[in-house]
Amino acid sequence: MSLPDITARIDAACAAHGRAREDVTLIAVSKVQHADRVQAVLEAGHRVFGENRVQEAAERWPQFQARFDGIVLHLIGPLQSNKARQAFGMFDAIHTLDRPKLARRFADLAQEAGRCPDLFIQVNTGEEPQKAGVLPAEADAFVAEARGMDLPVRGLMCIPPMEEEASLHFALLAKIAERNGLNGLSMGMSADFETAISFGATHIRVGSAIFGERM
Ligand SMILES: *Cc1c(COP(=O)(O)O)cnc(C)c1O
Repeated sequence: MSLPDITARIDAACAAHGRAREDVTLIAVSKVQHADRVQAVLEAGHRVFGENRVQEAAERWPQFQARFDGIVLHLIGPLQSNKARQAFGMFDAIHTLDRPKLARRFADLAQEAGRCPDLFIQVNTGEEPQKAGVLPAEADAFVAEARGMDLPVRGLMCIPPMEEEASLHFALLAKIAERNGLNGLSMGMSADFETAISFGATHIRVGSAIFGERM
Protein backbone atom coordinates (compact mmCIF):
# COMPACT_ATOMS: atom_id res chain seq x y z
CA MET A 1 0.00 0.00 0.00
CA SER A 2 1.59 3.25 -1.02
CA LEU A 3 -1.04 5.79 -0.08
CA PRO A 4 1.48 8.04 1.75
CA ASP A 5 3.69 8.17 -1.37
CA ILE A 6 0.77 9.13 -3.55
CA THR A 7 -0.51 11.81 -1.19
CA ALA A 8 3.02 13.25 -0.97
CA ARG A 9 3.19 13.36 -4.77
CA ILE A 10 -0.21 15.10 -4.92
CA ASP A 11 1.00 17.66 -2.36
CA ALA A 12 4.12 18.30 -4.44
CA ALA A 13 2.20 18.57 -7.72
CA CYS A 14 -0.24 21.05 -6.18
CA ALA A 15 2.63 23.15 -4.82
CA ALA A 16 4.47 23.05 -8.15
CA HIS A 17 1.44 24.12 -10.17
CA GLY A 18 -0.14 26.66 -7.85
CA ARG A 19 -3.12 24.48 -7.06
CA ALA A 20 -4.85 24.56 -3.67
CA ARG A 21 -4.47 21.11 -2.13
CA GLU A 22 -8.09 21.01 -0.98
CA ASP A 23 -9.22 21.47 -4.58
CA VAL A 24 -7.83 18.06 -5.55
CA THR A 25 -9.68 14.96 -4.36
CA LEU A 26 -7.91 11.62 -4.49
CA ILE A 27 -10.30 8.84 -5.51
CA ALA A 28 -8.68 5.53 -4.57
CA VAL A 29 -9.83 3.14 -7.29
CA SER A 30 -10.41 -0.13 -5.49
CA LYS A 31 -11.99 -2.15 -8.32
CA VAL A 32 -10.87 -5.78 -8.39
CA GLN A 33 -8.52 -5.24 -5.45
CA HIS A 34 -8.44 -7.71 -2.62
CA ALA A 35 -10.46 -6.63 0.44
CA ASP A 36 -7.35 -6.71 2.64
CA ARG A 37 -5.73 -4.02 0.54
CA VAL A 38 -8.85 -1.87 0.63
CA GLN A 39 -9.08 -2.29 4.37
CA ALA A 40 -5.46 -1.17 4.80
CA VAL A 41 -6.23 2.05 2.94
CA LEU A 42 -9.34 2.61 5.08
CA GLU A 43 -7.30 2.01 8.23
CA ALA A 44 -4.79 4.58 7.01
CA GLY A 45 -7.67 7.07 7.13
CA HIS A 46 -8.59 7.40 3.48
CA ARG A 47 -12.32 7.58 2.77
CA VAL A 48 -12.89 8.37 -0.91
CA PHE A 49 -13.04 5.37 -3.23
CA GLY A 50 -13.90 4.62 -6.83
CA GLU A 51 -15.47 1.50 -8.29
CA ASN A 52 -16.20 0.77 -11.91
CA ARG A 53 -18.95 -1.82 -11.53
CA VAL A 54 -22.18 -1.41 -9.61
CA GLN A 55 -22.43 -5.09 -8.75
CA GLU A 56 -18.92 -5.34 -7.36
CA ALA A 57 -19.43 -2.21 -5.27
CA ALA A 58 -22.73 -3.53 -3.92
CA GLU A 59 -21.06 -6.72 -2.77
CA ARG A 60 -18.11 -5.09 -1.11
CA TRP A 61 -18.99 -1.71 0.38
CA PRO A 62 -21.88 -2.31 2.79
CA GLN A 63 -19.55 -4.31 5.04
CA PHE A 64 -16.93 -1.57 5.09
CA GLN A 65 -19.59 1.10 5.61
CA ALA A 66 -20.75 -0.75 8.71
CA ARG A 67 -17.23 -0.52 10.13
CA PHE A 68 -15.86 2.81 8.88
CA ASP A 69 -17.63 6.19 8.98
CA GLY A 70 -17.60 8.77 6.25
CA ILE A 71 -16.94 6.60 3.22
CA VAL A 72 -17.55 8.44 -0.06
CA LEU A 73 -18.10 6.31 -3.16
CA HIS A 74 -17.62 7.36 -6.77
CA LEU A 75 -18.80 5.32 -9.74
CA ILE A 76 -16.20 5.68 -12.49
CA GLY A 77 -17.28 2.91 -14.87
CA PRO A 78 -20.01 2.70 -17.51
CA LEU A 79 -23.57 2.53 -16.23
CA GLN A 80 -26.42 0.61 -17.86
CA SER A 81 -29.80 2.27 -17.51
CA ASN A 82 -31.21 -0.78 -15.74
CA LYS A 83 -28.59 -0.36 -12.99
CA ALA A 84 -29.24 3.36 -12.60
CA ARG A 85 -31.50 3.03 -9.57
CA GLN A 86 -29.05 0.84 -7.70
CA ALA A 87 -26.14 3.14 -8.55
CA PHE A 88 -28.15 6.17 -7.56
CA GLY A 89 -28.74 4.76 -4.10
CA MET A 90 -25.18 3.68 -3.51
CA PHE A 91 -22.86 6.32 -4.94
CA ASP A 92 -22.14 9.88 -3.85
CA ALA A 93 -20.90 10.76 -7.31
CA ILE A 94 -21.25 9.26 -10.78
CA HIS A 95 -18.59 10.12 -13.38
CA THR A 96 -20.06 8.41 -16.40
CA LEU A 97 -23.16 10.32 -17.46
CA ASP A 98 -22.86 10.00 -21.22
CA ARG A 99 -26.28 9.93 -22.87
CA PRO A 100 -29.70 11.59 -22.75
CA LYS A 101 -31.47 8.38 -21.79
CA LEU A 102 -29.38 8.06 -18.63
CA ALA A 103 -29.84 11.76 -17.84
CA ARG A 104 -33.63 11.37 -18.02
CA ARG A 105 -33.42 8.32 -15.79
CA PHE A 106 -31.39 10.29 -13.21
CA ALA A 107 -33.83 13.18 -13.40
CA ASP A 108 -36.73 10.83 -12.62
CA LEU A 109 -34.82 9.19 -9.76
CA ALA A 110 -33.80 12.58 -8.36
CA GLN A 111 -37.40 13.74 -8.36
CA GLU A 112 -38.45 10.59 -6.55
CA ALA A 113 -35.61 10.66 -3.99
CA GLY A 114 -35.28 14.42 -3.48
CA ARG A 115 -31.53 14.08 -3.92
CA CYS A 116 -29.03 13.23 -6.60
CA PRO A 117 -25.39 12.14 -6.62
CA ASP A 118 -22.91 14.66 -8.01
CA LEU A 119 -22.65 14.05 -11.73
CA PHE A 120 -19.74 14.25 -14.13
CA ILE A 121 -20.31 14.05 -17.86
CA GLN A 122 -17.91 11.69 -19.57
CA VAL A 123 -16.35 13.13 -22.72
CA ASN A 124 -14.75 10.82 -25.28
CA THR A 125 -11.90 13.24 -25.94
CA GLY A 126 -10.06 10.76 -28.18
CA GLU A 127 -13.23 10.07 -30.20
CA GLU A 128 -12.56 6.35 -29.83
CA PRO A 129 -15.42 4.24 -31.19
CA GLN A 130 -15.17 1.63 -28.43
CA LYS A 131 -15.13 4.17 -25.62
CA ALA A 132 -18.10 5.71 -23.80
CA GLY A 133 -18.67 9.42 -23.52
CA VAL A 134 -20.12 12.23 -25.57
CA LEU A 135 -18.01 13.53 -28.43
CA PRO A 136 -16.25 16.84 -27.77
CA ALA A 137 -18.41 18.54 -30.42
CA GLU A 138 -21.57 17.39 -28.66
CA ALA A 139 -20.48 18.18 -25.12
CA ASP A 140 -21.83 21.73 -24.84
CA ALA A 141 -25.30 20.65 -25.97
CA PHE A 142 -25.34 17.71 -23.60
CA VAL A 143 -24.23 19.80 -20.63
CA ALA A 144 -27.09 22.20 -21.40
CA GLU A 145 -29.55 19.33 -21.77
CA ALA A 146 -28.56 17.82 -18.40
CA ARG A 147 -28.75 21.20 -16.70
CA GLY A 148 -32.15 21.70 -18.27
CA MET A 149 -33.26 18.62 -16.35
CA ASP A 150 -32.01 20.25 -13.12
CA LEU A 151 -29.29 17.64 -12.71
CA PRO A 152 -26.32 18.58 -10.49
CA VAL A 153 -23.59 18.57 -13.14
CA ARG A 154 -20.34 19.05 -11.21
CA GLY A 155 -17.95 18.66 -14.08
CA LEU A 156 -16.48 16.56 -16.85
CA MET A 157 -14.54 13.31 -16.95
CA CYS A 158 -12.25 11.73 -19.53
CA ILE A 159 -10.11 8.64 -20.07
CA PRO A 160 -7.43 9.54 -22.64
CA PRO A 161 -6.50 6.98 -25.31
CA MET A 162 -3.72 4.65 -24.12
CA GLU A 163 -1.27 5.51 -26.88
CA GLU A 164 -1.66 9.27 -26.91
CA GLU A 165 -0.19 12.12 -24.90
CA ALA A 166 -2.62 12.50 -22.01
CA SER A 167 -1.94 16.22 -21.60
CA LEU A 168 -3.66 17.00 -24.92
CA HIS A 169 -6.81 15.36 -23.63
CA PHE A 170 -6.60 17.02 -20.22
CA ALA A 171 -6.25 20.40 -21.92
CA LEU A 172 -9.24 19.73 -24.17
CA LEU A 173 -11.40 18.62 -21.25
CA ALA A 174 -10.42 21.70 -19.25
CA LYS A 175 -11.31 23.94 -22.19
CA ILE A 176 -14.75 22.38 -22.64
CA ALA A 177 -15.39 22.66 -18.90
CA GLU A 178 -14.33 26.28 -18.78
CA ARG A 179 -16.56 27.41 -21.61
CA ASN A 180 -19.48 25.68 -19.88
CA GLY A 181 -18.77 27.24 -16.50
CA LEU A 182 -17.92 23.90 -14.88
CA ASN A 183 -15.02 23.57 -12.45
CA GLY A 184 -15.03 19.82 -11.77
CA LEU A 185 -12.47 17.90 -13.79
CA SER A 186 -12.22 14.14 -13.24
CA MET A 187 -8.99 13.18 -14.97
CA GLY A 188 -5.64 11.59 -14.24
CA MET A 189 -4.84 8.01 -13.24
CA SER A 190 -1.79 6.23 -11.80
CA ALA A 191 0.47 7.05 -14.74
CA ASP A 192 -0.45 10.70 -15.21
CA PHE A 193 -2.17 12.22 -12.19
CA GLU A 194 0.50 14.86 -11.69
CA THR A 195 0.06 16.04 -15.27
CA ALA A 196 -3.70 16.09 -14.72
CA ILE A 197 -3.22 18.26 -11.63
CA SER A 198 -1.18 20.69 -13.68
CA PHE A 199 -4.13 20.96 -16.10
CA GLY A 200 -6.66 21.60 -13.35
CA ALA A 201 -7.90 18.16 -12.28
CA THR A 202 -10.18 18.32 -9.25
CA HIS A 203 -10.71 14.56 -8.99
CA ILE A 204 -7.89 12.15 -9.77
CA ARG A 205 -8.67 8.44 -10.06
CA VAL A 206 -5.70 6.41 -8.87
CA GLY A 207 -5.82 2.62 -8.55
CA SER A 208 -2.73 0.52 -9.08
CA ALA A 209 -0.29 3.14 -7.77
CA ILE A 210 -2.02 2.93 -4.38
CA PHE A 211 -3.09 -0.69 -4.15
CA GLY A 212 -0.60 -2.45 -6.40
CA GLU A 213 -1.38 -4.24 -9.64
CA ARG A 214 -4.92 -5.52 -10.03
CA MET A 215 -5.41 -9.27 -9.68
C1 LIG B 1 -9.30 1.52 -13.38
C2 LIG B 1 -9.59 2.95 -13.61
C3 LIG B 1 -8.77 3.95 -13.08
C4 LIG B 1 -7.51 3.65 -12.26
O1 LIG B 1 -6.52 3.21 -13.10
P1 LIG B 1 -4.99 3.02 -12.53
O2 LIG B 1 -4.18 3.06 -13.77
O3 LIG B 1 -4.96 1.71 -11.83
O4 LIG B 1 -4.72 4.16 -11.64
C5 LIG B 1 -9.12 5.26 -13.28
N1 LIG B 1 -10.21 5.59 -14.00
C6 LIG B 1 -11.03 4.65 -14.53
C7 LIG B 1 -12.22 5.09 -15.30
C8 LIG B 1 -10.74 3.31 -14.37
O5 LIG B 1 -11.55 2.40 -14.92
